[in-house]
Amino acid sequence: ASFTDLPISENVRRAVAGQGWETPTPIQALAMPELLDGEDVVGLAQTGSGKTAAFAIPLIESLDRKPRGVQALVLVPTRELASQAATEISNLSRYSPVRPVVLCGGVGIGPQIKALKNRATSVVVGTPGRILDHLQRGTLRLNAVRYLVLDEADRMLDMGFAPDVGRILSHTPNERQTALFSATMPDAIKGMVKRHMRSPRYLTV
Ligand code: AMP
Repeated sequence: ASFTDLPISENVRRAVAGQGWETPTPIQALAMPELLDGEDVVGLAQTGSGKTAAFAIPLIESLDRKPRGVQALVLVPTRELASQAATEISNLSRYSPVRPVVLCGGVGIGPQIKALKNRATSVVVGTPGRILDHLQRGTLRLNAVRYLVLDEADRMLDMGFAPDVGRILSHTPNERQTALFSATMPDAIKGMVKRHMRSPRYLTV
């Protein structure tokens, strides 16, 4: 498999080349065609597998040019993962007008509120607690989300975020596309998949 075999835009292709990547990693080779095709995906993949780009490239491709609110949401368990995912999305959308807004706790909420007022905000990456905080304040709307990622879902469950994730997802449209990545597949994840996804493809590397 090669990146040139995938239906990705010239802008993303150039950004991938700029990263020095030659071939997709196994999880990318499995997940990207499904996600680019609009399918829901459950990926059993570890950190270091290249899973971030596996969901980030289809995320970038899913965006509508016209600014119409938050179109893509990436939920991660930690601040560190949020900044890594946002950096990867920025790198891969270097030639596209995308600037992800990071919403995590441990930092002031004022600058985040200001960033969200920018009508061009199409991608949000963050941790469940702070995202829920914004939803409750009315500073974030998720009614235009079409592409949702639950990254390191097992860690989110371990950290007790399941109720928050459920509340956040109830603010997004049902007809969205959803990708879930996890290093393990305990029953609680299967329950999450059943509740929040529609006939996903299960991928293991
Ligand atoms: P991740 O599992 O998403 O944390 O990615 C692990 C590392 O692999 C990151 O530093 C990525 O920049 C890098 N990476 C992702 N995709 C590729 C690829 N196709 N070829 C080489 N490196 C990659």
